[in-house]
Amino acid sequence: MKINVATDRCTGIGICESIAPDFFEVLDDGTLNLLEDKTGDALAEVEHAVRSCPALALSLTAE
Ligand code: SF4
Repeated sequence: MKINVATDRCTGIGICESIAPDFFEVLDDGTLNLLEDKTGDALAEVEHAVRSCPALALSLTAE
């Protein structure tokens, strides 16, 4: 699955980073850096992060 970030919705809270740090990194300026845009075999971990985003800024789409 492909990971999508709606940067206009992201508030830089960093919950995604705390759940899936190999994929999400909040930079010092509060913007989200997507380290890897394919879930690969970590689908469950990334799905957890997507569901946990309070701003609904993350989504997954089929590649
Ligand atoms: S959890 Fe959502 S709002 Fe918070 S940094 Fe990640 S994408 Fe942005």
